[in-house]
Amino acid sequence: MQPVRTRFAPSPTGYLHLGGLRTALYTYLLARKYNGSFILRIEDTDQEREVPGAIDLIYQSMHLAGLTYDEGPDIGGNFGPYIQSQRKDTYLPYALQLVESGHAYPCFCTKEELDARREAATQKGETWKYDKKCLHLDKEEAKKRMAAGESYVIRQNIPATGVAGFDDVLYGHVEVPCDTLDDNVLIKADGLPTYNFANVIDDHLMQISHVTRGTEYLSSAPKYNLLYTALGWTPPTYIHLPVVMKDATRKLSKRYGDPSFEDLLAMGYLKDAVINFIALLGWSPGNDREFFTLDELVEAFDENNLNKSPAIFNMDKLTWFNFEYIRQLPFEEYLKLATPWFDKALGGLNIDYRRLGELMQGRTEVFNRVPDMVAFLKEMPEYDLELYTHKKMKTTPETSLEALRFIKPTLEGIGDWQETAIHDALMGAIAEAGRKNGAVLWPLRIALSGLASTPGGAVEIAYLLGKEETLKRVDAAIARLQA
Ligand code: GLU
Repeated sequence: MQPVRTRFAPSPTGYLHLGGLRTALYTYLLARKYNGSFILRIEDTDQEREVPGAIDLIYQSMHLAGLTYDEGPDIGGNFGPYIQSQRKDTYLPYALQLVESGHAYPCFCTKEELDARREAATQKGETWKYDKKCLHLDKEEAKKRMAAGESYVIRQNIPATGVAGFDDVLYGHVEVPCDTLDDNVLIKADGLPTYNFANVIDDHLMQISHVTRGTEYLSSAPKYNLLYTALGWTPPTYIHLPVVMKDATRKLSKRYGDPSFEDLLAMGYLKDAVINFIALLGWSPGNDREFFTLDELVEAFDENNLNKSPAIFNMDKLTWFNFEYIRQLPFEEYLKLATPWFDKALGGLNIDYRRLGELMQGRTEVFNRVPDMVAFLKEMPEYDLELYTHKKMKTTPETSLEALRFIKPTLEGIGDWQETAIHDALMGAIAEAGRKNGAVLWPLRIALSGLASTPGGAVEIAYLLGKEETLKRVDAAIARLQA
């Protein structure tokens, strides 16, 4: 078997979107599964679409995702350069070879001429495709015009009749009538190849065995196959991947505000959770296992288990994955990751982050939700007195006022403000008075946090707040309840 060589070939048009990340991931998994090579190639021949800095962003995203490539622009390899604009001179000789063999031809039509003919076709209700006008130019005449420096492009000469097709791992044999295909430009007037040409030449020269890319290229692949045949080359194995959808009708797209990989990381999604989740968008292990590390994905991945139907990106599901991943983190790592988010809400306060971390780890779904969840420690939020009403604890604002008055002296009497000391003092006083825990601790939690749901209960919150702030909040609550 030919060695497996796969490539991820992004165009530098901005941040890596999640569909792109998934393509990169599957391409990586395929190479690793077969102990092959994974190559990064930058496709920047459409210089108008290029966004400055985007190539660096691609390196960065690949690095962050842990998708290490064996060859690429920044690390080299035996098949470089790996940036298409640096391979500028590679393509023309192949195009000229195709011109010689009749599979391509120079075209001198100007933009104005093309516009006029397109317009005329549209008016007649016809779909425009290039009308092969320049195919019929005298060959010698055409050569002279090229040599004289006239502006021209080179177009693929698609046969007028017959069918063109190719085989895809997911979609099987795909075939289209040739008369529906346009004579695409292969080499542009600026001498650079189009994607349509460069992908074929580079995949061949880089000895790519498997081409994985989005289904948007499914309809062009027959044309690419004609080029392989014309050049006498064997085409690669094709795997076209269904699009990632936002919902049943809309594609996931940065343009509509859907997050990129970097956005998700910045929001506080864990890289491993995102990768795990993305892997399952269009692939399944064939059983109901859901959690995989990258290495486990390499083990489990099978291109034959890819799914043909569009995958829906469900943010809630990703959040659930993230929650599970965060729960499984070693505590020290959680604390390290959570600290900047604690700082965001609590910076400057003297709060036991370690204890707060213990209370928060099992409640953290995404890190960017952490500041709002802990902000009450810095500032008492506004709250409704109805929060004191709790059916099960049998509390009302009235019983709460009484309970807070009752427990205040106990709090005042605690010398060493440690969690166990607070716990023992409160429990001791409650038991001694023959009261129910909930009837005191619920009002105290509300008085200290203004929230019905908090990391930890009254004891933990009192500890985190410190004695002075605890008593201040109890006084404020009493004042409000008796007003
Ligand atoms: N440069 C193309 C893109 O970014 C890649 C297509 C391919 O992998 O062949 O969409």
